[in-house]
Amino acid sequence: MIAPIVRDKALLREMVTPWKRAGEVVGVVPTMGALHDGHLSLVAAAKAVCDRVIVTIFVNPKQFNNPEDLANYPRTEEADARKLERFDVDAIWVPDGDQMYPECFGTTVSVTGLTNCLCGTSRPGHFEGVATVVAKLFLQTQADKAFFGEKDYQQLQVVTRMAADLDIPVEVIGCPTIREEDGLAMSSRNLLLSDRARVYAPVLNEVMEGMADALRGGAAMSEVLPDALARLETAGFTGVDYLELRAADGLALLERSDVPSRLFAAAWLAGVRLIDNIAV
Ligand code: AMP
Repeated sequence: MIAPIVRDKALLREMVTPWKRAGEVVGVVPTMGALHDGHLSLVAAAKAVCDRVIVTIFVNPKQFNNPEDLANYPRTEEADARKLERFDVDAIWVPDGDQMYPECFGTTVSVTGLTNCLCGTSRPGHFEGVATVVAKLFLQTQADKAFFGEKDYQQLQVVTRMAADLDIPVEVIGCPTIREEDGLAMSSRNLLLSDRARVYAPVLNEVMEGMADALRGGAAMSEVLPDALARLETAGFTGVDYLELRAADGLALLERSDVPSRLFAAAWLAGVRLIDNIAV
């Protein structure tokens, strides 16, 4: 069934209020659209445990630190709605820019600690934009459960902290990263890769898996990093924003995997910034 596309805050509230009154469990899957199987896995997870599911599609200007990146971000609303048909979701929330940020808008939600590393450093302002829009999406949808991908692990941590700190009554649920057969983490930005760059893109995950194996065997980051960086450079990656081992809980920087940890990377290939992270 084609889900109603809702573009107005008041209409969304009108729709959700009776669900809440009836005690139904409302789930939300926030996205920026250009939906792929990674997004759809979150929708399936939501459908499995919620009575009502709202998918949001909003390319949030506040989380882009680069205007060109915002302009180039793929927008495929019609195709997105068609992909959602088979999930029978209850609403697709597609707020207009002025619904989200009217001219007088003056509030920023800022999470400290978790945001002073990784994408927080390489994309200044990014997580303020994420925390602000996600707080709004939680309140607009009145969701009981919200589904986020581990693909954006730092975002998952930031959003969980934000909801807890602000006493927003929503349970944030993390879902595993969905990958292409060659290991490349699915991402809307993969659409921006040239055919040639697409061939080399999976090297990022390959290199990370190799590092993770060595780290599991007791190696230190300083022993595995030089070779990893060299392999990325050979594959055509032109810059690495970060390639770091961090604690899965709290994101403290690690040299060895002596607590539950994850390897995080952000690297540039032919003008496209790819990110990935895996459990060590
Ligand atoms: P985005 O549209 O990129 O903002 O992503 C919307 C949500 O989908 C976020 O919670 C992402 O972490 C999640 N997501 C994106 N790519 C994947 C993937 N490959 N596997 C699982 N979740 C994903």
